[in-house]
Amino acid sequence: MERYYNIKMKKYQYKREIQVYCSHCKMWINEDTTKFVNIEEGMQGEDKLTFICPDCGQTSTSRRYG
Ligand SMILES: [Zn+2]
Repeated sequence: MERYYNIKMKKYQYKREIQVYCSHCKMWINEDTTKFVNIEEGMQGEDKLTFICPDCGQTSTSRRYG
């Protein structure tokens, strides 16, 4: 895993890669490559991200896995 220095916490941390699912492409994509639209809490307290997919350019909502 990739390591980076967190200036606020003054220590090295592992970079977490969050994956989200585009229901249009039927593909998992890295959250960092998407365009953020909204985030909300789901029924089980999970994070649900609404984003614009970099591949198809459409808005999709997905649970965040990472
Ligand atoms: Zn897509």
